[in-house]
Amino acid sequence: MRLVLLGAPGSGKGTQAAFLKERYGCIHVSTGDIFRENLRNKTPLGLEAEGYMSKGALVPDEVVVKMVSARLREQDAEAGFLLDGFPRTVAQAEFLDAFLQERDWPLDAVVLFAIDEEKLVQRLVNRRTCRSCGKIYNLLRAEDGFDGKKCPACDGEIYQREDDSERVIRNRLKVFGDQTAPLIAWYEKKELLRRIDVSGTPEEAFEALEAVLG
Ligand code: AMP
Repeated sequence: MRLVLLGAPGSGKGTQAAFLKERYGCIHVSTGDIFRENLRNKTPLGLEAEGYMSKGALVPDEVVVKMVSARLREQDAEAGFLLDGFPRTVAQAEFLDAFLQERDWPLDAVVLFAIDEEKLVQRLVNRRTCRSCGKIYNLLRAEDGFDGKKCPACDGEIYQREDDSERVIRNRLKVFGDQTAPLIAWYEKKELLRRIDVSGTPEEAFEALEAVLG
């Protein structure tokens, strides 16, 4: 399975990728997670990305493309991958197209996560993440045993992403509208786009996802 998950911040791409990874056994490539990990380890890549991320701006295409192509050249990508948060600009999509064509690895689909903007803001300000296992929670949908401090799955520390403050969120949504939304028409033209409604629960979104993937 080779999929692109396309959707605004907070639309649930990471949560669905975790379900999909379990179901299809392919790797999950989240560019945001890779940048955050580099930032935690204070690598040159992380330090370069930090200024853009803290403002909710996009990291320059050349940097992202180099990082993704290195990841997709690893052997485990041969069995398929879920791209989450990439591509985010037409230039990135053009790079991906050429990269996949060279390998004769056509995409199975590009899934668009459709949801109302105000709902996204509410989700994002209430989003919490586990620092150890990366599991995503939401204060609005308290899960059994989740107290907002410790991860019920691994006992790791729960934190709020720095870019999940309302001011940065508004900017991330604007960046999505300006720079990423043009990809919807771009992939529609290639007849790869599948749209799912993600305004309900994660389980409902996963059902919709499985239905469009057949
Ligand atoms: P995410 O976790 O996908 O919301 O990404 C967090 C931040 O990482 C974004 O706001 C950008 O600053 C940066 N980032 C992630 N993916 C990309 C990408 N494909 N292109 C440019 N910047 C990215």
